[in-house]
Amino acid sequence: MANHNDFISSLLRQMMMTMKMKMTTMILINKDTAPKKPQKTLANALCCRIAQRLGEDFHLSPRQKAVIECLQRPHAQDFLTVIPIEGLGQRMSAVEYRSILKYRLMIPMFPNDETCPVCRKACLDKYGEHAIHCRELPGFKYRHDFVRDALMDILRRAGISAKKEAPVNFLTDPSEGRSTLRPADVLVFGWEGGKHACVDLTGVSPLAGFRENGFVAGQAVLKAESKKVEKHAKVCEDNQHAFVPLAFDTFGSLAPEAVRFLSRVQRVVHSNFSTPQGRGFVFSRLGFSIQKGMAAQFVARLPAILM
Ligand SMILES: [Zn+2]
Repeated sequence: MANHNDFISSLLRQMMMTMKMKMTTMILINKDTAPKKPQKTLANALCCRIAQRLGEDFHLSPRQKAVIECLQRPHAQDFLTVIPIEGLGQRMSAVEYRSILKYRLMIPMFPNDETCPVCRKACLDKYGEHAIHCRELPGFKYRHDFVRDALMDILRRAGISAKKEAPVNFLTDPSEGRSTLRPADVLVFGWEGGKHACVDLTGVSPLAGFRENGFVAGQAVLKAESKKVEKHAKVCEDNQHAFVPLAFDTFGSLAPEAVRFLSRVQRVVHSNFSTPQGRGFVFSRLGFSIQKGMAAQFVARLPAILM
């Protein structure tokens, strides 16, 4: 901690010196060319510098490097910009918020590693990794449904006609046997060329089965997306439906089809409600629901002593 503080203060001093010199020069040249928001400029410069030199200034484990890459992926930080509104589900308790920050900063949140009491296949690790991707713990389904409900609400408010858990007579779930028909997570009516679209949500953890070599941030969502396309796209097309995979990871990064879909929803919102352009609240709201769903998974696992 001391090292970290020393590092920050020495960096700050350096930055201040540079900024001071720059600003003095600017003022000497012309009063009007001084930066408009010096504090913001200074903070941005400092944060960029810290992020750039992180690998040199600190010893990072391969896992830490991987997490930092995940955090820098597009949309991974969208949830930070939501306005806390209870009615939109955009509020977390302090315990929930702490748990997702700990996950993102790799601060252990559980006292000990132990075997998962439900699947008994893996270690319920202290960083919470297994707690969020064990499919047999009830939180996994809860997170999926929570994100789906947030998406439904976004669509409803945007005036886009959709139905959740809509029965369609062609989607099968291989894990439940070939004959079992499953509903579409969300069916969006008349979405692509007049066709209804089956939106299928899937959440993955990029750190599941983490290996030190060959980690590529963003790979997990891409893989999840192509798996879904492989599984459902053709059958949807054969039945006159469009298929939209909506793959996201535990850090909030989104696969390309998800970005395409949500960008279009965002455009509909803009055209229907003349909201200020550039405010991606469709993304931030969905991002927040992913994090809140995860927080619920962590909190369900937290021992009472840490609450
Ligand atoms: Zn498990």
